[in-house]
Amino acid sequence: MTDTPETVTVNSREYAWPKQPVVVVCIDGSEPDYIERAVADGAMPFLSEALKTGSDLRGDCVVPSFTNPNNISIVTGVPPSVHGIGANFFFDRDSGEDVMMGNPKFMRAGTIYKAFFDAGAKVAIITAKDKLTPLLRHGLDFSTGRAICFSSEKSDQATKADNGIDYVNRYVGLPVPEVYSADLSEFIFAAGVKLFEEERADLMYLSTTDYVQHKNAPGSGGANDFYAMMDGYFHKLDALGAVLVLTADHGMNAKHTAEGDPDVIYLQDVLDGWRNEGTAEGTARVVLTITDPYVVHHGALGSFCTIYLSDGADADDIASRLRDLDGILTVYSNAEGCKEFELPPERMGDLIVISEKHKVLGSSVKHHDLSGLNVPLRSHGGSTEQRVPLILNRPTPDLDPGRRLRNFDAFDLGLNFAR
Ligand code: ZN
Ligand code: ZN
Repeated sequence: MTDTPETVTVNSREYAWPKQPVVVVCIDGSEPDYIERAVADGAMPFLSEALKTGSDLRGDCVVPSFTNPNNISIVTGVPPSVHGIGANFFFDRDSGEDVMMGNPKFMRAGTIYKAFFDAGAKVAIITAKDKLTPLLRHGLDFSTGRAICFSSEKSDQATKADNGIDYVNRYVGLPVPEVYSADLSEFIFAAGVKLFEEERADLMYLSTTDYVQHKNAPGSGGANDFYAMMDGYFHKLDALGAVLVLTADHGMNAKHTAEGDPDVIYLQDVLDGWRNEGTAEGTARVVLTITDPYVVHHGALGSFCTIYLSDGADADDIASRLRDLDGILTVYSNAEGCKEFELPPERMGDLIVISEKHKVLGSSVKHHDLSGLNVPLRSHGGSTEQRVPLILNRPTPDLDPGRRLRNFDAFDLGLNFAR
C-alpha cells in the first residue's frame, strides 16, 4: 500500500505511523533488577552500550500483576477497565462456574497493531505459550500476507490460514521447544530476527514466558544466561534498524520462608474456619486468578486474589478481619479495588486482597499441588511486582519526565517518542 496515514487512532490514543519498524518485547516476569544486574555483571554488552544513547525508563504494570491482563494492556494501550481482561478467568455467579477468558469474545478493545494492519501495515506477533495466541491474533486477516501470529509452543501446528506462516520450525531451524524451558522464549527471538530480516514487518510484538524468572533470582547464573541470550538478539534487531522497546508484563519476587517453603496464606481455609466457628455468616469463594493450565512453576500461588461472597455475608467485617491477618498488604472492596487498579468491576469478586511482598495467597491447602515446585517459590500478582522496565534503544527527548509511565505505553513510546 502506498498511501499510509500519518497517524492511527486506537482506543482513543493516537499513534504515529512507524518511520522504522518498531519491535515491542514483553519480557515476562522481568523485575527491573534482572536487567540491572545483568548489565552490571557484563552479561548484556549490547544493552549496556545502547543505554548510553537510549532511554532507561521504568513504568508500572497493571495489578493484578499477571500475564494476560498485562499483555492485553500492552497490545491495546489501555487498562483492563477498557479492554475487559482483568484476569485469566472470572467466576460467573449465575452459573457457579469459572469462566476462562482465553477467548477473544471477552476482549472489549482491539489491538494497536490490528488497527495499523487495517490501515495497511505489515505486522508480526510471536508469543511463548499458546494461551495468549487467540487474544493476540484477534481481528487479523492472515490471507493478506501482511499478518503473522503464532506461539513457539505450537510452532509445528502453524498454518498459513490461521497464523500467516507454516513450516515454522524448518523456517527458524529449531525444533518445537519444551513448554517449561528457556528455549520456549529463545525460539521467539530466533524467529523474530529471521522474520525481521525477511519480512520487515512495520510492527512486531514478541512476548516471552517467565519460566526462568520463576526459578532464578536477578544476578544468578540462570538469570544472567537468559538475559545474555536475549542481548544477542536485541543486538541483531538493533543492527537491522529496529526501534526496540523492552518492557515486562509484571515483576517477580521471592515468596518463601527462610527454610525455602512457599509462604502461603490459605484464605479459603481461613474463611471457612470463620464460618465453621460461627463468627462469619454466608459463604466465601476465594478465586486465584493466576490459575491457568500452566501452573507447574508457581503452584497457582500469587499475591492477588478476589473473593466472592454469598448473600448474608458481611463484606466490611470480613475485609477488616482479613486486613488484620499477618502478611496481608491491602484489602479493597470491589469498587475501591477496581477504581485503584482500573479493573472491570463485573469481572471481579466482592473483595480484592493483596499480600505482602514475600507472601502468596492460596485457597485451601488441599487444592494446591506444590510437587512441581523444585526450587523456592518466586511469584507475582501483587502491587509489589508493579514496577517494570521501559527501555528503548533510542532517545525520547520529548517525553515529559514527570509522566507516570505504564507498561501499556510501550507502543506510544516506540511510535510517538523514539527518535
Ligand atoms: Zn507473566
Ligand atoms: Zn508467572
